[in-house]
Amino acid sequence: MLIETDTHTHTVSSGHAYSTLQENARAAKAAGIRLMAMTDHAPTMPGAPHIWHFGNLKVVPRQIEGVGILRGVEANICDEQGHIDIPDDYLNMLDIVIGSFHEPVFAPSNSAVHTQTLERVIASGKVDIIGHPGNPNFPIDINAVVQAAAQHQVLIELNNSSFISSRRGSESNCTAIAEAARDFGAYITLGSDSHICYTVGQFKECLAILEHVGFPPERLVSTKAEKLLKFLSKRGKTHLSEFNFL
Ligand SMILES: [Zn+2]
Ligand SMILES: [Zn+2]
Repeated sequence: MLIETDTHTHTVSSGHAYSTLQENARAAKAAGIRLMAMTDHAPTMPGAPHIWHFGNLKVVPRQIEGVGILRGVEANICDEQGHIDIPDDYLNMLDIVIGSFHEPVFAPSNSAVHTQTLERVIASGKVDIIGHPGNPNFPIDINAVVQAAAQHQVLIELNNSSFISSRRGSESNCTAIAEAARDFGAYITLGSDSHICYTVGQFKECLAILEHVGFPPERLVSTKAEKLLKFLSKRGKTHLSEFNFL
């Protein structure tokens, strides 16, 4: 299956990542990616950039090395109410927002708490993607979260780095998540979660899971840049007509 988008990449701005935006874009191009989201960690994460990083993304060209660049963030889920660490007036400037649990910001609790929190995040309308929901440190009621995502048209991420460098033990959860998404009508996006350019656009492990569960390709937004843009437009994102050159 051909993949045209990568909705989760980090640059040196994240502190514990090692490539520039240009290096990531070049790697994306080599991997056949047409549209890449830069999604550095939001300010609550140790080492993350100041909020001004996100306010100044307008200086980032729409196209670098021939690849479309979505201006994004990987926001932290901060509390059980589902608040994230990006103020509303900044959200309006961003093309794509991932919401994720990270251990330094949200101490792992139990499945009931994680599930209810994700349901609140999804219902808030502030995030477009739930990041790495298969993390074994944050167990969830998979059916409940996936059904909520389907209902509110929020993307479920399959995160390739969960299988190669972080969050060990994610495979069985991610398989169950892909099965639930298949059955409940949810949409999936692929994110490399690259912290260095060499993994941008690499989705071998994610694609194996999707094939294993027989996920319908029409609900994988990553197969066409236009499909992802259309999904984000429906979620109310403006400025996306600036990608008409794709
Ligand atoms: Zn993350
Ligand atoms: Zn990440």
